[in-house]
Amino acid sequence: MSPSPSAVQELFRSCFGDRADGVWLAPGRANLMGEHTDYNEGFVLPFALGQGIVAAAARRDDSSGRRLVLCSAQEPGSVAEVSLDGLSPGQVSGWAAYPAGVAWALAAAGYAVPGACVAFDSDVPAGAGLSSSAALECATALALTELAGVAVDRRELAAMTRRGENEFVGVPSGIMDQSASLLGQRGHALLLDCRSLETSQVPFDPAAAAAQLLLINTRARHELTAGQYGRRRAECEQAARLLGVPSLRYLTDVADTDRLTDPVLRRRARHVVTDDQRVLEVVGFLTRGSGSGSGDVLGEIGRLLTQAHVSLRDDFEVSWPEADVAVDAALTAGALGARMIGGGFGGSVLSLVRAEAAEPVRAAVAEAFGRRAWTAPEFLPADPSDGARRLGLQ
Ligand code: ADP
Ligand code: MG
Repeated sequence: MSPSPSAVQELFRSCFGDRADGVWLAPGRANLMGEHTDYNEGFVLPFALGQGIVAAAARRDDSSGRRLVLCSAQEPGSVAEVSLDGLSPGQVSGWAAYPAGVAWALAAAGYAVPGACVAFDSDVPAGAGLSSSAALECATALALTELAGVAVDRRELAAMTRRGENEFVGVPSGIMDQSASLLGQRGHALLLDCRSLETSQVPFDPAAAAAQLLLINTRARHELTAGQYGRRRAECEQAARLLGVPSLRYLTDVADTDRLTDPVLRRRARHVVTDDQRVLEVVGFLTRGSGSGSGDVLGEIGRLLTQAHVSLRDDFEVSWPEADVAVDAALTAGALGARMIGGGFGGSVLSLVRAEAAEPVRAAVAEAFGRRAWTAPEFLPADPSDGARRLGLQ
């Protein structure tokens, strides 16, 4: 999986009439557990997907100032050109803002960013909650730093690409997506402590236990997203303030949230505290079960996935109708568990299924959508995969 290096080199040649110096791949991600916990300084457990964005890139030496010239197979017919001299937030709009934001953040951190031509190709659906944006940023970051001949620590790259997305593109996202894309390892999920920024690799290989993770792209995106995300962040901060802690991460007992008199704030805080606990429970099961399905590790993880969905739906109130229907249909058809992933109000559902239940689950979800005359969902495998890297040129 992930688009082939030869196809993106071909695209590079057709956009720029020349050969690329190299091809880099950065994967999208799914999050096994821990939603809306990142900005509460809690735990998340994402993994890198087999699907990703590839970037074919070459340095360019412009006499008239450094430029980033960009094309993408998913944005046919348009070549974006960005001047790197004096680049600042607000100057670039549209998809080119993501790669330009990376160049801006690298320069802000003191790295000499060369002018470059970059062609992108992707098999991560954009806007499906699988972080095509982080894949685009991380592929750009690897390409630009390697073209510049500098080796940058992956954690620093994660921080810089995130800064580009936050400050240049203007999306207030956490550090999870870029960390998963840059630090992912095949057969593992990445435990990330968003307070200390410590990470550890947790063995996770459902295929070894004759199971699989199945992504269901609900193809829905409800317009509320941006405002609701900000509102949830503000509610969590208010709850922490009222409880006298720096962030909700500092609560270790869900009973502490009972001290909140406002029922909405109490529900929001309860989701965050219980989701942090679910991350650690999943890690416990995986660590004891060596990442596979010994005992009923997968059954336990499935149960926690579904519990997390109920919490996101009822306590945090960020689910959407297509996700609820996909989760219910998947469970009825025999999935071990399922939950919405991402910020909410659109995107994808992640389900854990034993191999023999995969087809019935797909059929049941498709049928449930068809019955409601909704756009057919897209099914994608979600295999914990390696993080961003340079690919060999053919
Ligand atoms: P997600 O990260 O969940 O996929 P976002 O809204 O954060 O959704 O990012 C999607 C945006 O990233 C797209 O609207 C587009 O601007 C950019 N993008 C993603 N993939 C590509 C691609 N292959 N080519 C060009 N731009 C892309
Ligand atoms: Mg994104």
